[in-house]
Amino acid sequence: MSASANPVLAVDIGGTSLRLGLINREGKLIGDIARYDVPFANDGAADVRGILVLMAEHVERARPIVSGELRVGISLCGNVDLASGDAILVPNLHWRNLPFGKLVSQRFQLPVCIATDVRQAVLAEATWGAGAKERNFAWATVGTGYGGYLFLNGRLYGGAHGFAGNFGHTTYDEINGHPCGCGRRGCFETFVAGPAIARAGQAAHEAGESVILSSLADEGKVSTRAVFHAIELGDPIAARIIDEAIRLICINLGGVVNLLDIRLIVMGGGVTKAAPWLVQRINSDIRAFLMTVEAQRELKIVRESTANAALWGAAAHVFAVEGALASDKLEEGLEHRAIRAF
Ligand SMILES: [Zn+2]
Repeated sequence: MSASANPVLAVDIGGTSLRLGLINREGKLIGDIARYDVPFANDGAADVRGILVLMAEHVERARPIVSGELRVGISLCGNVDLASGDAILVPNLHWRNLPFGKLVSQRFQLPVCIATDVRQAVLAEATWGAGAKERNFAWATVGTGYGGYLFLNGRLYGGAHGFAGNFGHTTYDEINGHPCGCGRRGCFETFVAGPAIARAGQAAHEAGESVILSSLADEGKVSTRAVFHAIELGDPIAARIIDEAIRLICINLGGVVNLLDIRLIVMGGGVTKAAPWLVQRINSDIRAFLMTVEAQRELKIVRESTANAALWGAAAHVFAVEGALASDKLEEGLEHRAIRAF
């Protein structure tokens, strides 16, 4: 087996969960996905040392499985500088300008590829998934946040700084909207992501509008999951909350389709996992917001192709950098190589 055919240790670091798995060049998972809560330090930031400790066990277990050097691919829930591997701004982990790629490479004496999770998710879909035959498509995540990324003209499209595709942070209502994690107010994310759904459920509970939502409140707090549960129990108030989120997602993604004339949007994230029918609803309701009959006829909105596209994308990133897979799909104008800080 050539070195590049060896499986990669893929790591997906989200705002709450850390997932690891060994993935091979065919996109097959070897063994299981391990899941941990992201450890946080007393200052509120994610604990780098704690994360390295969790990773260490899996690195040591994987080393003897591969012939030659083990490689690590990482997907991170924030902006990452592709060239340096530094985490520039990761709001959910409270990291800013942290050389995380180098720290991992140094600690384990291994080559590391690292990028933003939405970008990795697009690369996975373009390599093995729904976008493998498409020259243009978008990715959208609805979870703790509402994120996006683009694949245009057969390649990942990062824009001037790698920040393109942030359609969750286009503004919907800056006057009546809530503050956003990006520092502004009224972005689409603040209306449609998990916390917005929970907030609307909480307001309905506090106003005494829904007996079902109130019965599902845990110590007075309504979660996103509880709102979806209430719909299953037939609660019209919860259904109205999700209808409104779906309407705004359709307005937003409809704008993306009208802007780019794309025929495919792949959706992932915790909210779409909790309610798989949500993607079907968006796929149908979005037609009202599409400008052309071609888009109305041809656009497909589908769920991610694997259990966790960002994790698969972390592996695809390594294979692409090595030239073993889809390297012509990486961003134009950048030198793509693994970080070796040892
Ligand atoms: Zn924002």
